[in-house]
Amino acid sequence: MENSNRIILLRCGELMLKGQNRKYFEDKLVRNIRHAISDLGDARIATSRGRVFVEPEGADFNFDKALERLTKVFGVVSISPVYKIESDFDAIKEHSLAMVKDSVAEKNLVTFKVETKRANKSFPLESPEVSRDLGEHLLKNIPSLKVDVNNPSFIFYVEIREHTYLYFEIIPAAGGLPVGTGEKTLLLLSGGIDSPVAGWMMLKRGVELEVVHFYSYPYTSERALEKVVDLAKILAQYCISIKLHIVPFTKIQTEINEKCPENELVLIMRRFMMKIAEKIALSNGALSLTTGESIGQVASQTMHSLSVTNAAVAIPVFRPLIGMDKNEVVSIARKIGTFETSILPYEDCCTVFVPKHPKTKPILSDILKSESVLDVSGLIDEAIKNTEIREIN
Ligand code: ATP
Ligand code: MG
Repeated sequence: MENSNRIILLRCGELMLKGQNRKYFEDKLVRNIRHAISDLGDARIATSRGRVFVEPEGADFNFDKALERLTKVFGVVSISPVYKIESDFDAIKEHSLAMVKDSVAEKNLVTFKVETKRANKSFPLESPEVSRDLGEHLLKNIPSLKVDVNNPSFIFYVEIREHTYLYFEIIPAAGGLPVGTGEKTLLLLSGGIDSPVAGWMMLKRGVELEVVHFYSYPYTSERALEKVVDLAKILAQYCISIKLHIVPFTKIQTEINEKCPENELVLIMRRFMMKIAEKIALSNGALSLTTGESIGQVASQTMHSLSVTNAAVAIPVFRPLIGMDKNEVVSIARKIGTFETSILPYEDCCTVFVPKHPKTKPILSDILKSESVLDVSGLIDEAIKNTEIREIN
């Protein structure tokens, strides 16, 4: 179509509520949008009152791929591929007719309605008038069309601002807040189903992620580690990049296994994880830890056990899945693309020394007594010293 541009319109949600901070939120959002499509060709990004516009520059911009990527950017509520034209009613009629003709070309009879939003109050017609007059124009020129305001087979949208945007589709996007607006957390990432979902939920609220994984080579294989790297890569699609800390955990597990009561192994191990994670968080600017724990899922996730685990650290520990059933977590894991990787059959360090009868009502003083035979700070320092760091994009 002449004099018109095919561009992408993105709607921002809660962003608009933030008053004073709006500019800050908008800047982060634009940065994240730019990053998400940086390899798809040249595009200009502009913002205006709760909307972001991605305008391709040049023919090689990968429009469809961009649409798909942008549905994953947090802070965006919905997306529409639109035609941008001048705000002039004759131009609106002409372009709308061409668009609707194209889209109904092969159909016998289709019903529709026009929905108009007029943010530009200097436009001479009011919204209902635009819908009515444009509807009439389309009906007159396309014989196979019929109006149905209650249950139309398509809606034709007209959004009048400084320019006018014409479109058929409103695609739901990720919602949430732009990543980078909510500080940073350190996610304890296993190879399981839960922790990647917990990480995604923090990203959704604008929180940046750094990730720690405890690795018990040779009890857990190279493939098990690759699985965790793959999960971190999937999470990195929802932000800009993720720093992954790979902590060697074999020596700590072996020591606990040799020197502590069997029914306390898992809890003591989890307390070590928390302590190491807290140190890594503090030295990397993360203000909290995040885990994939959920009440009652296993012995180490009873209220008693979680309290004992929590007591190992002073910084907040967030557990976004705490009230969720497994099937709810699984359905998010499928939606965000981590499920297929999470169910690959490689062992996790938690499965290396599994006691037959773990305590479900541990008492902190007993656990502290059991731990006192270990060189806790020496073991922790050594593990941190040997931690490998990878940047995941
Ligand atoms: P997940 O599905 O996330 O593995 P889970 O239900 O299997 O969780 P646990 O194995 O008890 O539960 O682990 C509880 C939480 O502890 C995990 O969600 C994760 O945050 C953390 N965690 C467990 N194992 C590791 C590990 N090897 N490295 C880093 N974090 C871990
Ligand atoms: Mg697990």
